[in-house]
Amino acid sequence: MVRESARRAARAERLLTADDAEGPPPRHVRPRFARGGVALLIAVGGALLLGSTAAVTALVSGGTPDVAAQAQLLSDAPPSVSALPVPVVKQMQVAADICGVPAVMRALEAHDDAGAITAAGGAESFRSAVAEGRARCVDLGDPTRVWTVVNKARPYSPVDYRPTGLVMPDGVRSIEGGALRSDAASALTAMVTAAREAGVGEIALESGFRSYSTQQGSYGRHVDQRGQDGADLVSARPGHSEHQSGLAGDVVACAGGCGTLDDLAATAQGAWIVDHAWEHGWIVRYVAGATGVTGYSPEPWHLRYIGPELSRAYHDGGWTSLEEFFGLEPAPAYVG
Ligand SMILES: [Zn+2]
Repeated sequence: MVRESARRAARAERLLTADDAEGPPPRHVRPRFARGGVALLIAVGGALLLGSTAAVTALVSGGTPDVAAQAQLLSDAPPSVSALPVPVVKQMQVAADICGVPAVMRALEAHDDAGAITAAGGAESFRSAVAEGRARCVDLGDPTRVWTVVNKARPYSPVDYRPTGLVMPDGVRSIEGGALRSDAASALTAMVTAAREAGVGEIALESGFRSYSTQQGSYGRHVDQRGQDGADLVSARPGHSEHQSGLAGDVVACAGGCGTLDDLAATAQGAWIVDHAWEHGWIVRYVAGATGVTGYSPEPWHLRYIGPELSRAYHDGGWTSLEEFFGLEPAPAYVG
């Protein structure tokens, strides 16, 4: 199995570095890492996953003129002389879909989101595979996953989805008694604790999980008062709020008493959240400059849990919306 995998990886590298244009690539030309860099990284990642040092070596040493040696890797039989220097390989789809990695599929089946990300080669590898359509087994519409994306164009399915495992976060003041999914709750506790230990002050949870029926009630009241267009400016339609996932929390800063959501941005806690929330698996979901993509004005208080692996990639990549992070269409408005 491993030898076959190594050969597949080497073959993939051959394809990735070959010129896509007609005719065989010129001899002894360095592979086009600039253009095929992402794909090459995936191939390397795949080789690493497979634990084959031979495959990795074959991949990273691709720039040297030992084409014959590489060609040897592609086939059990020695290549015929006429096939040298490089076998003419017609274009084939490289098996770079992360769903082809058995460990990814096992983790998904076990509902081990972090494990699936790790098995995919890490968060950036996972992200790019999703964004580039090389992760058909990853369903961004599955609200049970940390990578789920809910917005004005992507309601829950079922629309009245309700997460299991809702708990109150330990050691966090909860103003409206909001609960979170247990993984998000633990991460909020860690974040609030870190802020306190950094001397920033107290961060409290204003609201967490909201059920479909709760959202129906509040949205309905806004519609009664303002009409639908007016309501859409201030309240998510039922079935479209991140709060329904149990993975979103609105937070406020406290110093004795607690401030409002609008107060947060100007506080030390608000500044700390911008810099450090990602370290605990959270992102500020709606930021300035991304309204046309997210459909929401900036909400410095609205945090979304995506897990520490993805939040690091989100931070390191300088992303400002989950939609762009995963290569989704902008969702500036409700559909219909
Ligand atoms: Zn919110």
